[in-house]
This record gives sequence, structure tokens and C-alpha cells, in this order.
Amino acid sequence: MLDLSSFKGFFGGHRILVTGGAGFIGSWLCDALVELGAKVVCLDNLSSGRVDNIKHLLNSGRFEFVNADVSSWCAGEGFDVIVHGASIPSPEDYMSRPVETLLSNSIGLLKLLENARENGSILLYMSTSEVYGDAAIIPTPETYYGYVNPIGLRSCYDESKRFGEALCMAYFRQYNVDVRIARIFNSYGPRLDVNARYARVVPRFILQALRNEPITVHGDGRQTRSFTYITDTVAALVMMLAKDTVRGEVLNVGNPKETSILELAEKIIKLTGSSSKIVFTEPRPDDPRRRCPDIRRAKELIGWEPKVQLEEGLKYTIEWFRKCV
Ligand code: UDP
Repeated sequence: MLDLSSFKGFFGGHRILVTGGAGFIGSWLCDALVELGAKVVCLDNLSSGRVDNIKHLLNSGRFEFVNADVSSWCAGEGFDVIVHGASIPSPEDYMSRPVETLLSNSIGLLKLLENARENGSILLYMSTSEVYGDAAIIPTPETYYGYVNPIGLRSCYDESKRFGEALCMAYFRQYNVDVRIARIFNSYGPRLDVNARYARVVPRFILQALRNEPITVHGDGRQTRSFTYITDTVAALVMMLAKDTVRGEVLNVGNPKETSILELAEKIIKLTGSSSKIVFTEPRPDDPRRRCPDIRRAKELIGWEPKVQLEEGLKYTIEWFRKCV
């Protein structure tokens, strides 16, 4: 992980709300913020987050867990910083719960923006590379408008994140709320949900490999993703909070190294020493063909770029899965 200790001065004593704080990215962010001296309130309805991800923080004097849904929760207090990460990130999961997915990024976010407006808080919105849909420009810069089907199966996620970004910018322009938007590309690492039904591609392939089961590559496996190790993702979020250069800005947070799904499957088989064979299954509907960020803006505005190479990050993740599964 990048050394973030120079930001202690900024976070020390700050009261920070992290929605989705028991999820994968949220829980790693809570770890970093507590470590940096902040007082963290973690809000999560545990619909995809897990207490296991945060249980080591529960006895820290600077961490509080609230089990509630952001769309119906009443804060009753203000925060110095709000990070909105509550959402259902796994495609199979959000496609089966589209209404809930839409509400967290609309009504939930609206409540948080109102809270930020009343209390003069910074609000960081965890958006997604999915706002670009099936991007025609690779690597994709923040200026690309996106190619998204508003009524497609994935629209509950990508359109609600697009609405969320528009709402943040409206609060920035109309009410001068200090909003910051991170478009997060596929992040991976320990604590990813292993629930076989909804697991993302990295945990799914690792589990299949560790059990010597077939690795299920959807379609021809030539679709690409850009995988960012979790500590790199969290470092970018921390830097976005601490640096005023990103007020009212949107930044791609992702690894500029593009990897095909077939290549990922082969790497995981090699690194686990598995006897699994690759099988090609039905393509997933509306699956974006390529995903890769242009991160020049993040480099320029916050001096961030990922440090952990895919093989190294996969090794850490596999190690964790071996112990936990
Ligand atoms: N994928 C796959 N086999 C699986 C699960 C996923 O080939 O068992 C592919 C999926 O079709 C997509 C990529 O891996 O092209 C990433 O899928 P994931 O669910 O991690 O999230 P996405 O990036 O699509 O949001």
C-alpha cells in the first residue's frame, strides 16, 4: 500500500460516514481511515456487505457500525466527510434486485447530499467504470460520455450511477457542495464475496481453481477488464478526500493494464497450481467488450497511479482464499 501517513493531519479527529462500509471496498476504506485517525461511522444494510469484513474494527474506539439502509436512514447528525459506496456491485446480484440498486444511488445519495449541504461536508461518491458502458474509446478518459442502454439489464446499475454523478454535480453547481467522484474500475483482493451465485470474476475463478473445478469463461473470453488491487483503489480514494484539487471533479480509479478474461483464467490456474480446465459458457447479456481507464487525470490531480501488478495482487488474494475457504 502507498504510504498514506502524510494524510494523518487531514483525517485526525474527522468524523466520517462510509456507506457500504461493510462491503469489499468500503471495509478496506474504513480500515485506512481508522488507521489515519478518523472517527468512522459505517452504515451498511448487509445486503451484500458482511460483518466479517469489519469485525476487527468493532472494538476500536474510533469505529461505529450502523445496520441500516441508506435510502430510509435518518442520520440526525452531520459529518466532516461522507463517502457513499452503498450499492450492489455484482452484475448477477444487481440484475436480480434492480429496484434496490436504483434507490441507493438516487434516494440514498440525495439524502446524503442534503446532509452534506446542511453541514458543509465533503462528499465522495463511489461511481463506476460502468458509466462508460460498452466504451468505444480505449483507454477511456473521463471526457468520454459513455455508451449505455438505458433500459438494458445492466441499466439499474449503470444508469443509476450516471444519475448519481449528475446529482452530485447539480449539488456542486447549485449549492456549492464539495463533491468528488471516483469512477472505480474492477477492484479485487481479500474479502471479495465468495458467494458462488454472485461472485465477481476474480473470486469465482480462484475458488474454481482451488477446488479443481472447471473455470467458467463467459463467451469467447476475449472481453477485457482492468484489475486494480484493493490497496491501490483505497489509496486513490484517500487521496481524493485529502486533496482539494478534486473538488467538483471526476477521476478514473483503475489499473491501465488491460487483461482479457481468458488470460486471467490462465494466470489463476498457473498461480494456484490447479488442474482445472477452462470451459466456455454462454456470454453474459450486455457484457462490455473492453474496459480500461486512461488515468492521466488522476496522476495530474492527485499524483496517484496503481503500484501492485496483477500477478502480485492475485498471489495475495489466492493466499487469503486458501485460508478462508
Ligand atoms: N466472467 C466470466 N466467468 C464468470 C464470471 C465472470 O467469464 O464465471 C466474465 C464476465 O462475463 C465479464 C468479466 O468476467 O466479462 C467480469 O465480470 P464481473 O462479474 O467480475 O464484473 P463486471 O466487470 O462485468 O462488472
